Amino acid sequence: MARKTVCCRLSALEFSLMVLFLLMTAVSVGLITVLALKADSEKQPEEPAPTTVNPPENSYVIGVGRADCTGPVADIPLMGYANTEQTARGLHTRLFSRAFIVDDGSKRVVFVTADIGMVSQRLRLEVLQELKGKYGDLYRQDNVIMSGTHTHSGMGGYFQYTLFMITSSGYIKPSIQAIVSGIVKSIDIAHRNMRPGRIFINKGQLADSNLNRSPHSYMNNPEEERKRYEFNTDKQIVILKFTDMDGDGMGMLSWFAVHPVSMNYTNRMVSSDNLGYASYAFEQDKNRGFLPGEGPFVAGFSSSNLGDSSPNIRGPVCVNTGEKCDYLNSSCPIGGKKACIAFGPGEDMFESTRIVGENMFKKAKELYSGAKQELHGPIHGAHQWVNMTDETVQFNSTHTGRTCKPALGHSFAAGTTDGGGEFNFVQGDTDGDPFWDGIRDELVGPPSTETQDCHRPKPILFSTGEMFSPLPWHPAIVDVQIITIGPLAIVAVPGEFTTMSGRRMREAVKQELEMHGAFTNAEVVVAGLCNIYTHYITTYEEYQIQRYEGASTIFGPHTLSAYIQRYRGLAKAIAQGSTGELPKGPEPPFFPEDKLFNLVKDPVDDKAPINTTFGEVLEQVDPIYKVGEIASVTFVSGNPRHSGDIVSNKTLVTVERFHNDTGTWEVVHSDASWETRFHWIKGTRGLSNATVEWHIPSSAQTGTYRIRYFGHYKQSNVVTAYVGTSDAFKVTKSFYYF
Ligand code: ZN
Repeated sequence: MARKTVCCRLSALEFSLMVLFLLMTAVSVGLITVLALKADSEKQPEEPAPTTVNPPENSYVIGVGRADCTGPVADIPLMGYANTEQTARGLHTRLFSRAFIVDDGSKRVVFVTADIGMVSQRLRLEVLQELKGKYGDLYRQDNVIMSGTHTHSGMGGYFQYTLFMITSSGYIKPSIQAIVSGIVKSIDIAHRNMRPGRIFINKGQLADSNLNRSPHSYMNNPEEERKRYEFNTDKQIVILKFTDMDGDGMGMLSWFAVHPVSMNYTNRMVSSDNLGYASYAFEQDKNRGFLPGEGPFVAGFSSSNLGDSSPNIRGPVCVNTGEKCDYLNSSCPIGGKKACIAFGPGEDMFESTRIVGENMFKKAKELYSGAKQELHGPIHGAHQWVNMTDETVQFNSTHTGRTCKPALGHSFAAGTTDGGGEFNFVQGDTDGDPFWDGIRDELVGPPSTETQDCHRPKPILFSTGEMFSPLPWHPAIVDVQIITIGPLAIVAVPGEFTTMSGRRMREAVKQELEMHGAFTNAEVVVAGLCNIYTHYITTYEEYQIQRYEGASTIFGPHTLSAYIQRYRGLAKAIAQGSTGELPKGPEPPFFPEDKLFNLVKDPVDDKAPINTTFGEVLEQVDPIYKVGEIASVTFVSGNPRHSGDIVSNKTLVTVERFHNDTGTWEVVHSDASWETRFHWIKGTRGLSNATVEWHIPSSAQTGTYRIRYFGHYKQSNVVTAYVGTSDAFKVTKSFYYF
């Protein structure tokens, strides 16, 4: 049985109010933990920035790399459901950053997809700083795209704007450090293994893996536009196949629009969710004989226009009565919107993650083996910083629209059918609620008339663009970026575009690229959650409905049109070869570390119960298991945060098989394996246990096994490593023959 770790779901509003209160109290008594860690200034260029190598004709120089970015797996809030009580209590699958570098002989571009909720402006700026220290001007804001897969079970704590710091308990140095170093290391590895190679592209349709969670909003798009598409989510999956000049596979990179929310808000283990599972399965298939996260082949499954695309494909139902939820509000007669939850396709969240991940893996594998169309042609990168609070959209010669200062609507606090919020907030709210408006006005003041008018029909819950304490609540300066490799254009978008928003963007960029004669048959993909997080981007028509996605479109009803205008500008510059003349735009702020706050305390010293030692077994394994069963062992443990950088510790867990002939133990699974689960059970006053589970797959060989756990405990400022080892146990295919 999976360990049930149900926690209370709180809405973003509740946290905001709660933390505002905490902040005010903390400020008044001077208790805010101020992070004053020294900036890492000792970085030296460890290797000279290499000059671009001339590839053989019709080929590129390619590098691929993967590195761990898991971070501390205890106490830090998971990033996604905006629930500060959903803190990490263990590890299911490790998180990785995957980098792909392509050079055409004169220009170079990098695409990074990392198993994290989203790339934040802070994260990107810190990564770019490190890259500059190491490589000079080789890797820059205009040729490096960073995309998050949008797993909701990765670490939080890597943001500099107040709203995001509140929902992830502040700026947490160990968390952001792990992600920055993971991304940089994945680029280092890709950079070091660059060699001449070829890139092929293929695409296909993937069924039964996503479902529109706001069909009511989608239906508000013009009928003639909807008629052009068979489905209300994108079923298209696009893959790139990277090979060396001998045709040996180096890597695979794909885009498919689905939310990695198969793991829901009751989960407390760090997990890369469905897209991460697809990468895991693809890499395990290619890197035979390697443990997960090891081996040369790199398979990246990147997010796309997943704004309204859910993996919970059985759809929303009222969990208490089995009735259909209200179509507009996604609420239930009994239990309100909290009772309206979408599940599937599996029986539990683990099985759902595996099934959706497996679907993507299998389709990508089929497309990879059938990929024949080769990419040829030059590489381009175009990038600008844009003040998104101050954009004028030119619809025609007389009609214009404007973007707004950021603000979140009431339905933002309602959440979605993938995880609903608390209180009486529902989706599709265009009226607001005087009760909450009153509380908001008391605490942070009402939104200005200008902002209210600009966002109409959104009833404003938080006028974040007018909130600056202790730091701005939302960004104003946003990255827009496109890179092209031959006819392929990768459009890096700063958030979660809905299905139709993504379609409009792809079409506009394709048209612009082809209009100027330099491109024929351009293939445009949308890469989601890139560079900076600005929540959702709906179409103007979807915005009118004000479900969760519309309420979270922070720059107002013309946000999408403003982006399309900007990305058209980038595409035009690429097509005309004038990217160098694009104005850079206003640089985003980099707030000093002592202005950021951290609400996650350092862990206390560890204690072992009387007459026990760290790593000692408290609950032993059974002597024998059948495949399909779960071997489980519980140890006395320290806080996993005392293991420091768990990345360099390689694994917290091993499953080992005994070889009679040599008398040795062989590691068959690590903590990155799908089959292993590491649960950390926090007690009081420094006491804690760790339970390691091995969900024995039917493919497991019969034989003798043991489980080991590698931990650290801290007492009086001294960190000590320990190893716990279970009794040996047997695994059989059936209890009847052994
Ligand atoms: Zn999302």
